[in-house]
Amino acid sequence: MTSRTDSDVTLIGLGLMGTALAGALLGAGHRTTVWNRTAAKAEELVTQGALLADSVGSAVNASPVVVTCVSDYASLQQVLTPVADRLGGRVLVNLASGDSEQAREMARWTEDRGATYLDGAIMAVPPTIGTAAAVILLSGPETTFTMHQSIFDALGTTAYLGEDHGLSALYDVAGLSMMWGVLNAWLQGVALLSTAGVDAASYTPFAAQLAQETVGWLAGYADQVDRGTYPSDDATLNTHAGGMTHLIEESERLGVNAELPRLFKALVDRAIAAGQGGRSYPVLIEQFAQPHATSR
Ligand code: NAP
Repeated sequence: MTSRTDSDVTLIGLGLMGTALAGALLGAGHRTTVWNRTAAKAEELVTQGALLADSVGSAVNASPVVVTCVSDYASLQQVLTPVADRLGGRVLVNLASGDSEQAREMARWTEDRGATYLDGAIMAVPPTIGTAAAVILLSGPETTFTMHQSIFDALGTTAYLGEDHGLSALYDVAGLSMMWGVLNAWLQGVALLSTAGVDAASYTPFAAQLAQETVGWLAGYADQVDRGTYPSDDATLNTHAGGMTHLIEESERLGVNAELPRLFKALVDRAIAAGQGGRSYPVLIEQFAQPHATSR
């Protein structure tokens, strides 16, 4: 019988993602115990060397580190509540998606049972798990992350974000906002150029160059946001507003959807009405850092 070590790991939840995670752990040589509500999903992993636990309790008992990847936090509570008394002294790592408050609440629940909690968010699809392309965000106690880093490194490129358990979920949604912001802006341009017979492939190198140039502004603008000072040494909000009007009118004239540029302009108009028209673009953080009065 193989003796147990700190690198032993239990994986609970063998859906598409959990199966990929377990496969990567086995591939990296970790003694991996698995459990899934529908046990048949473990068959292939067992042929690869996984140990199939006959109950959630046995799965938790099997390893010092228990990684979970079920659908959501409600499912996780259903799975773990009956075996909560077995968590003491272990490390629970939840990789299911959720929000920052769920992560912090899960941390409190876990710590009340004498266990340590890391919360994670997977920025990847199952086929990339186990490769550098799979980015896994983790937050919680740094010493716990460091102690078990070999387990996380087996899953992909791990990024430790800090002690606050909510950080993984917050970076996750912030990343999605960045992604959809870029994609929607690109699609607006594709639609505009298509009215002149320019296809998406022809327009895209220009779009990519502009996106890269804009990304280059972010570090300086982040400095402005962190300092709370917005010197208008490049372009003022008033100047941006003029360009936005141009984008809205061109879109409308060509029969292209103008909702997105109208949203840009609405935010800028509110900042100008608040007396910010002479400041630089990131002063708009004041519009983003609060709920919109009519959005609730
Ligand atoms: P999935 O294929 O639908 O698998 C869901 C898993 O949760 C299954 O193991 C299922 O067990 C289990 N489960 C659900 N409700 C349960 C309950 N009440 N009790 C016990 N087990 C329960 O989903 P997935 O793609 O693996 O995703 C899992 C998590 O990873 C989600 O939070 C998802 O957002 C996140 N994620 C997924 C991806 C992706 O590309 N797939 C990417 C990033 C993050 P059964 O097999 O018995 O139904």
